[in-house]
Amino acid sequence: MERKVAVGGSEEAASVGSGAGAPEPLRPWETVRESESTVESASTTLSLPDPGNGGDSADGLWELPVEHALRRPECNRCSRPQKVCLCPFLPAHRLNISTNLYIIQHPAEENKVLRTVPLLAACLPQDKVKVKIGRRFNEERDPELSAICRNPSTLILYPGAEAINLEELVSNSPNNLSTIIIIDGTWSQAKDIFYKNSLFRLPRQVQLKTSVSSQYVIRTQPTNRCLSTLECAAVALAILEKNDHIQETLLRPLQALCSFQLQHGAQIRLSKEHLLKNGLYPKPMPKNKRKLRKMELLMNSVKI
Ligand SMILES: [Zn+2]
Repeated sequence: MERKVAVGGSEEAASVGSGAGAPEPLRPWETVRESESTVESASTTLSLPDPGNGGDSADGLWELPVEHALRRPECNRCSRPQKVCLCPFLPAHRLNISTNLYIIQHPAEENKVLRTVPLLAACLPQDKVKVKIGRRFNEERDPELSAICRNPSTLILYPGAEAINLEELVSNSPNNLSTIIIIDGTWSQAKDIFYKNSLFRLPRQVQLKTSVSSQYVIRTQPTNRCLSTLECAAVALAILEKNDHIQETLLRPLQALCSFQLQHGAQIRLSKEHLLKNGLYPKPMPKNKRKLRKMELLMNSVKI
């Protein structure tokens, strides 16, 4: 199970999630990340379904060359750029769960190119998901979090020798687990947050036996790490709620995101330039001197 976590400093809490329809006020992660546009807007072969919510009217504009300084509108529901909105992969109705999910998000996470917590939040009841951003928490400044950590029915998901397998715990204590805390960040960020906040030593520490990350192949993509928190949440909630459907539903938008990333990556990997440089070009080299010259230039990365 690969986990990611980050570093940061703010301490605001925000409930996450949004309705499918009316525009909602900006949530903490809804500031536009311009870096996101470079990868996704470059693709013209995107096979995601038409977003259908708000993207249509602006379709003509997307065909025009757009300066990088321009910010792209984001979907209110999934927080994705409208052009690559993942709402078609979200459940029609928010999942009905009784567990409260408390995500402790390293401040660097909210600026990640691919944010998956908004996807998670869009699948769950708004009053069941809370995201708290920060690195350091204490009883005085964070009374609500402190109360949650002190509640005997709260769990914290963090693997280690002290951690109990969640499945075992659930089968032994079926009815009194109300909240699960998940740390969102890279491994080192999560470690820092877990060990440097004594509050997080209060809840029962649990881990997941299953490693679902392996079902995703984007090993070398930046998305890989980003998936983990959502995957962990999906698996943990399915166990706590005793409902595998929850896991499937939560992972669906993620799978769509992955397949888009893979499609895009595949385009790069299978480019002629790449194939030539790596001796993988499957066709015989051209006999025409002009074409041959062009190939040589490609191999040497000269812009032609
Ligand atoms: Zn959307």
